[in-house]
Amino acid sequence: MSVSFNQKLIAPCGMNCRICIGYFGYTMGDKKRKIPCIGCRLEDKKCAFIKKKCKKLSNEEIKFCFECEVFPCENLKKLDGRYRTKYKMSMIENLEYIKKNGIGKFIENEVERWKCPKCGGVICVHNGKCYTC
Ligand SMILES: [Zn+2]
Repeated sequence: MSVSFNQKLIAPCGMNCRICIGYFGYTMGDKKRKIPCIGCRLEDKKCAFIKKKCKKLSNEEIKFCFECEVFPCENLKKLDGRYRTKYKMSMIENLEYIKKNGIGKFIENEVERWKCPKCGGVICVHNGKCYTC
């Protein structure tokens, strides 16, 4: 089901919050969180990774990092490198795709990319788990 994917869940850095372990309501140590995360944008939590280091994002001058003239900045490159290596996902690639093809098309692909082959639920990027099965 694609109902749970939406634009507001795509963070400024290109992360799809829907596939984040925090959104599923768990921590990286696989413990249940008291309050599941509702996504970087909706939570307005000054992004765990980048927003607190970026004036443009914290002042909401830009919606996505690709709107910035220094895109991709050092902070984003660091984050992207970590995700490429550990989780086989790239924020920069995501952002470049969104910039070129629009967020609607991006989300369509994400639905397919993270679909659980068994139940059609969503696979978590951080541990490959489906929390629906
Ligand atoms: Zn499943």
